[in-house]
Amino acid sequence: MNVLVTGGAGFIGSHLCRLLLSQGHDVLVLDDLSTGCYENLDGLEDGKRLRLIVDTVNNASLVDDCVRQSDCVYHLASAVGVRLIIEQPVRTIESIVGGTETVLKACSRYRRPFLLTSTSEVYGKGSKVPFCEDDDCVMGPSSKRRWSYACAKALDEFLTLAYWVEMRLPVIVTRLFNTVGPRQTGQYGMVVPNFVRQALRGDPLTVYGDGQQSRCFAHVEDVVGALTRLMECPAARGKVINVGNNEEVTIMGLAERVKQLSGSSSEIQTIPYEEAYGEGFDDMRRRVPSLERAKALIGYQPVRRLDDILRDVIAWEQRKLEAGSAF
Ligand code: UDP
Repeated sequence: MNVLVTGGAGFIGSHLCRLLLSQGHDVLVLDDLSTGCYENLDGLEDGKRLRLIVDTVNNASLVDDCVRQSDCVYHLASAVGVRLIIEQPVRTIESIVGGTETVLKACSRYRRPFLLTSTSEVYGKGSKVPFCEDDDCVMGPSSKRRWSYACAKALDEFLTLAYWVEMRLPVIVTRLFNTVGPRQTGQYGMVVPNFVRQALRGDPLTVYGDGQQSRCFAHVEDVVGALTRLMECPAARGKVINVGNNEEVTIMGLAERVKQLSGSSSEIQTIPYEEAYGEGFDDMRRRVPSLERAKALIGYQPVRRLDDILRDVIAWEQRKLEAGSAF
């Protein structure tokens, strides 16, 4: 098949491209190289099996052309990372909502299956753990910029499902929980690459808040494997599906694991949220996915455990450090 991956030069997108190529598909990547980068696709772009177009998903005539040439569409292009979202709210909202609308319109025109990568952020401050796809979403106020991301992504979900309801466009909405692995940049505040780099450099590991907030980290290869299987699963159409890992760890516990696995003598430092993100920041205490729906649909079971994931990221960052690449 010819597959279009928007955001294919990003962290998750580039892993998805590698998998699609290994499955024998030809891949067209549309990416504006904003949070993604060319290095993520290094060695893959050959102008035949993988082609890269550098532009935004807000370019409607280009998107139309790309979708027309493709048999199905993975829509990953999106602003990512809490730090970027706080610092650039206009870009965040406009690119998320506008981009998805443009891609969906083209998919509807040519009847192309469409997979949206949404986010566990849409559960917001929900306290019922684990999070099931039909649970209520509990958002904070619009005065706290972080919530713009969750609301914009939730609107993307509504729009995607609306195309299913009104036009029977084959769509799948995936909600990705914290996804980590090699090639993830720490530039936008993500905790695992930050901690690993700090540990390898001997800098203090910066734990925000009291460190008792928890997350579940999934290896990007488990995640992209689920995405391709969901795209091929007729029963997944019109549904919202959590994808991630349900092994829970506190952020303080994560810092200790990273320290131990990397053999680092860095200290662990707690930093108030206001100092890390500025005034009026809201964090989620716990975030754990229910994976029952993904299991029922595609037999999904994450293979890589937290320690495997951390070892993988440590090895990757170690190689980068030895190669002298700038962080
Ligand atoms: N965090 C931290 N130190 C960092 C970066 C993040 O303690 O250097 C915390 C952050 O406040 C949150 C958790 O780690 O509680 C996960 O943050 P991340 O930005 O990776 O993802 P989120 O789950 O918040 O989207």
